[in-house]
Amino acid sequence: MGSGQEIQCENCFYSIDTRLGVDVTHFPFDVCLKCLPRQDQHGFKELAQQQTIHRFEFSYELFQCTKHHLFEKPVLTVIYGEDQTFTTFNRCPYCRSIGSRIEKALDSIDALSCPFCKKKKLRTSQKIL
Ligand SMILES: [Zn+2]
Ligand SMILES: [Zn+2]
Repeated sequence: MGSGQEIQCENCFYSIDTRLGVDVTHFPFDVCLKCLPRQDQHGFKELAQQQTIHRFEFSYELFQCTKHHLFEKPVLTVIYGEDQTFTTFNRCPYCRSIGSRIEKALDSIDALSCPFCKKKKLRTSQKIL
């Protein structure tokens, strides 16, 4: 539980709910794993069985693909073995292309184009999940 952010377009009907801004820093590894889509969990489970996981990072991040689709994904990165890393794929759920992560998404929302009307009219508002 916590509060997420709703991203809305002021120019059209587009809106998505996100978990951006939710504090997940205290989540244990198992809980982070369960936040991932089922198909993403498998690789991490196998890795954890075969390798020693030194540390992990988990957060919700916003991505935009080359076709301007916006999507939010839980991102899990583990550091294992001799400083090797393994992380989640960031494929767009709409067109399957790779999305690029929006750094500081909540601060840079003004610079993003709406996936629907392509106008830079996106705004965020806090939302209790
Ligand atoms: Zn896309
Ligand atoms: Zn729009």
